[in-house]
Amino acid sequence: MLAHATDLASRVRSDFPILAQTTSRGKPLIYLDSAATSQKPRVVIDALTTYYEQYNANIHRGVYEIAARATDAYEDARAKIATFFNAKQSAEIIFTRNATESINLVAYSWGMQNIKPGDVILTSQVEHHSNLVPWQLLAAKTGATLRFIPADDRGVLVLDDLDNLLDGAKLVAITHVSNTLGTIAPLDQIVPRARAAGATILVDGAQAAPHLAVDLQALDVDFYAVSGHKMLAPTGIGVLYGKRALLEAMPPFLAGGDMIRHVEYESATFNKLPWKFEAGTSNVADAIGYGVAVDYLSEIGMDAIRAHERMLISYALDRLAPFEERGLALYGPKDPDLISGVLSFNFADIHAHDLASILDTEGVCIRAGHHCTMPLMEKMGWPATARASFYLYNDESDIDALVAALEKAAQVFKL
Ligand code: PMP
Repeated sequence: MLAHATDLASRVRSDFPILAQTTSRGKPLIYLDSAATSQKPRVVIDALTTYYEQYNANIHRGVYEIAARATDAYEDARAKIATFFNAKQSAEIIFTRNATESINLVAYSWGMQNIKPGDVILTSQVEHHSNLVPWQLLAAKTGATLRFIPADDRGVLVLDDLDNLLDGAKLVAITHVSNTLGTIAPLDQIVPRARAAGATILVDGAQAAPHLAVDLQALDVDFYAVSGHKMLAPTGIGVLYGKRALLEAMPPFLAGGDMIRHVEYESATFNKLPWKFEAGTSNVADAIGYGVAVDYLSEIGMDAIRAHERMLISYALDRLAPFEERGLALYGPKDPDLISGVLSFNFADIHAHDLASILDTEGVCIRAGHHCTMPLMEKMGWPATARASFYLYNDESDIDALVAALEKAAQVFKL
């Protein structure tokens, strides 16, 4: 175990060129918005340049050398990602644009085939819109009903009534880690009970995959949705994991080139997995970048990253506690074991957007707003929250800068 969060950050920080800059006001850039998107290490940026400079070509169809090299690199990236998440086989890893597209793929392909009038789709009160609105649309199309696992006032899921909620549930669609509160869902309790109830299980892993060791075989979920850009990879690439038998039985989501086996004027047959779900020219460069990102994360080790972030959260909770007397409302469970990567708060009656703007003048980047969880904000009675989020390249000095910037806000608003 590392003695200090600084130890890991000081080892990796210089790998992230963007973090070396100062802002236009001459302040060092303090990046505390990795839940929105992570920064990219030099190796990922270089992988994109190398691809475009040396072997940019369309994949799967070309017979010439650089096309074969591009195809190999793309499929190698898939294999690395399969290993990273401990999927049984590469064919269970479908490249998408992001977690949103992964979830929509399941909603359209699996959902339209399997969800019938009167079926229940069980989700939770803390979901990102990406794991809520697709199910609303599916329910409206199929005549299914949505139900919600409630969250307490810290955003922790309450499982007391879970067996009743699961009664008639065909699908459980739940986030692994909340992007607004950082709360980690107790999947070890939900998954076996959902299985026993006969439900198919989809997990939105957008905020978990970057921060926690995710072992898909141990989790035993049916679908797992991930965005590369939150875990050091470029934007525009994500993954849908699905168990092979389910993916085999699902119809294609998008149709076009590459996803076919044979086409006649009136009909077509479809390609094998995973390509059945990858219509059109793939995002080759960014998939290769994603493979490099998971290599980078693996080399550090997800357990080391979790331990590092646990220390950061712990340090941040200690440093922010004195502000509570001055009106800082810190949301979520104040327990580093229950949260990952994120702290959400409001400071007295300063609007979260004003707070974020003042912090920006100090070089501190945080996010303010509803974080794509409008129903949760409404339930909690928060018009908006300020959210600081952490990753492997942050250290205690970044939290000290956040605290100093909050002090500045307190002065501006005379708190
Ligand atoms: N789910 C969660 C929990 C998220 O935090 C996000 C991104 N904020 C998404 C889904 C959607 O990710 P993307 O926009 O990359 O598709």
